[in-house]
Amino acid sequence: MASIKNLLIDAANLLAGSSDSAHLDAEILLCLALNRQRSYLRAWPDNEPNITQENLFKDYLKERAHGKPIAYITGYKEFWSRDFKVTSDVLIPRPDTELIIELCLDLLPIHSTAKILDLGTGSGIIGITLAAERQHCQIIASDFSLAAISIAKFNAQTHHINNISFYQSDWLTKIPKDQFDVIVSNPPYIAKDDVHLTQGDLRYEPISALSANESGLSDIKTIINHARNYLTPNGHLLIEHGYNQKYAVQNLFKDFKYQHIHTLIDLSGQPRVTRGQWQPH
Ligand code: GLN
Repeated sequence: MASIKNLLIDAANLLAGSSDSAHLDAEILLCLALNRQRSYLRAWPDNEPNITQENLFKDYLKERAHGKPIAYITGYKEFWSRDFKVTSDVLIPRPDTELIIELCLDLLPIHSTAKILDLGTGSGIIGITLAAERQHCQIIASDFSLAAISIAKFNAQTHHINNISFYQSDWLTKIPKDQFDVIVSNPPYIAKDDVHLTQGDLRYEPISALSANESGLSDIKTIINHARNYLTPNGHLLIEHGYNQKYAVQNLFKDFKYQHIHTLIDLSGQPRVTRGQWQPH
């Protein structure tokens, strides 16, 4: 039997080679094994977990040491102060994506009744967060993956969200021909040959949610093109993209005749979201 303090020291050493947040990872996994909050570890460093808990902790550590992302071990990730269930069927929510939420909320007054479409919702973070923050808006969220849709539905139920509905759809193909005031998407945008796909957490994430043809731009192009048939006059399209895709994405918005095209910077100073407005001629 080992104390919490000693289990954490050994675990952090074990993970040091494979994770740059080894100590934090060890704490999170021990909390999971003990079914406790992190404050418990600080309050009771000399407590000795029982053998079942210790074995569970060691199993989680093994998974982490092999590279499995923490969120896929715990099954949850926080986004915009809410917990979202995640599995390897969906991307792990990133802080970068909070930028697109901020931009949408700026466009939508608190009592807005706008119709919003979230394309490629994954675990549902964008659609569900907007639905929760703007309760009079109607949100449709889509994904090609049925497994993703069922996770997003679970997350919507957990957060008691009623103003959202889900569609299985290959981008816009099965979306009802409604007129949306805002269309938003965090599509796959990493180039197929990008080395990051073979490193770190990305190795465990669904490749169809991460990477696209044409240097990562093929799905972005499909969305920019087809969204024109689904936007209200002056409706907004907002797309998350790679840090090095600003000009390519702006050019696509221009090619498809959007107006008021702007790219916004994320918290780490990278161009991350481009938006434009659709004005039919
Ligand atoms: N931002 C993610 C990354 O670079 C990619 C997310 C996506 O493809 N939509 O890891």
